[in-house]
Amino acid sequence: MNTTPYKTYLSESELPSAWYNIRADMKKKPAPLLNPQTKAPVTAEELEHVFCRECVRQEMDDTTPYIPIPEPIRDFYKMYRPSPLVRAYFLERALETPAKIYYKFEGNNTSGSHKLNSAIAQAYYAKEQGLDDLTTETGAGQWGTALSMACAFFGLKCHVYMVKCSYEQKPFRREVMRTYGADVTPSPSMTTEIGRRINAEFPGTTGSLGCAISEAVEAAIKLPNARYVLGSVLNQVCLHQSVIGLETQAAFRKLGVKPDVIIGCAGGGSNLSGLIAPFIGEKLRGEEDYRIIAVEPASCPSLTRGRYAYDYCDTGKVCPLQKMYTLGAGYIPPPNHAGGLRYHGMSATLSELYDQKQIEACAVEQTSVFKAATLFARTEGTLPAPESSHAIRATIDEALRCKETGKEETIVFGLTGTGYFDMMAYQRFNDGQMNDVIPADADLAAGFAQLPVV
Ligand SMILES: *Cc1c(COP(=O)(O)O)cnc(C)c1O
Repeated sequence: MNTTPYKTYLSESELPSAWYNIRADMKKKPAPLLNPQTKAPVTAEELEHVFCRECVRQEMDDTTPYIPIPEPIRDFYKMYRPSPLVRAYFLERALETPAKIYYKFEGNNTSGSHKLNSAIAQAYYAKEQGLDDLTTETGAGQWGTALSMACAFFGLKCHVYMVKCSYEQKPFRREVMRTYGADVTPSPSMTTEIGRRINAEFPGTTGSLGCAISEAVEAAIKLPNARYVLGSVLNQVCLHQSVIGLETQAAFRKLGVKPDVIIGCAGGGSNLSGLIAPFIGEKLRGEEDYRIIAVEPASCPSLTRGRYAYDYCDTGKVCPLQKMYTLGAGYIPPPNHAGGLRYHGMSATLSELYDQKQIEACAVEQTSVFKAATLFARTEGTLPAPESSHAIRATIDEALRCKETGKEETIVFGLTGTGYFDMMAYQRFNDGQMNDVIPADADLAAGFAQLPVV
């Protein structure tokens, strides 16, 4: 009776052979990164002190539409890709919606999320360059885990600065990273200058992503043959994640189906950029139209309530300035915020697309996110990551809208990962102890007041 299969797999040979670079089809490009001291556009040479050479090239390439995926990366991808496109028949039935719901599942690897798609690419380029060590930060822990796996594969030493509250709340994430050979330091630590400064200024602080980034950058600069890598926000990361969207597009073509609405959660914007990549390409070239929705937490609403301005990417102000939708580099979500997606800014590419009204955004409250997560787990079986559940929330809302209007729209969302390490958050929800704290305008004003003058 069902007209499309529950799962659509591509064969190994259908795995994309090149990433797609959205910027190539954007008439107005994202603004360039600026040197935080001089406020002049950064040069490749400046960036190469911090990032791998090839990653810098990809970061600054606004014109090449397709960038070949090197064979060693493609071979690694084959261990867990192509990932399935799943028709959520059971969720549709529970909602009694005429909408057709699909999701692209990225949780099918040990790191539990899409982040491995970029981790393996960045580790490969570091190895090619002859580097010994990589440093990074991790918040919830998925990125640190992904990079640990990638570094183990290519024989690189991995140093992870983990936001202190996650380090304490998620001991098993930490242990997974150590099992893959990484060393994991709670941030802010006493091992870096910036960490010592932040600890002195804010005694007892449980850390933030912006602070862990500064520590990881400092550590990379001080190690003899190391670079820093980032798991979201940057153009190169969005580029690597385009493998998600390219596979999704290929699977839909196999099915003879065209999605109407594409939905993804947005923290720094990498999975959403990746999922929408070939579709927004068609939209920018005027070939097709899609509704694209970025979903963010109401407690960290960078697109829906942020400013489109140049801002620091990190607390220590060592990284380049990026023009993006931002809540200010000092913004820290309310302490009861449990759903991830807590970065203060947003990918420059997604920010520019949002500013051009090519994509929409909405903010959802965390109790409604966990309600959606629970319904999804009970109907579709997979326990979703809280981050992914933001996309599930918005998908359910769209499907219920279809129920009211009787429209049979096709919706696809990114199921970016699984939630096994997020059971403290689920526990709070199950115990009825989760509430929604939404920042007041005055809370946000403090962050905006600190935006740099450019
Ligand atoms: C990191 C993460 C996100 C958010 O990051 P983006 O760069 O916005 O994609 C979403 N879901 C999961 C499971 C993650 O680990």
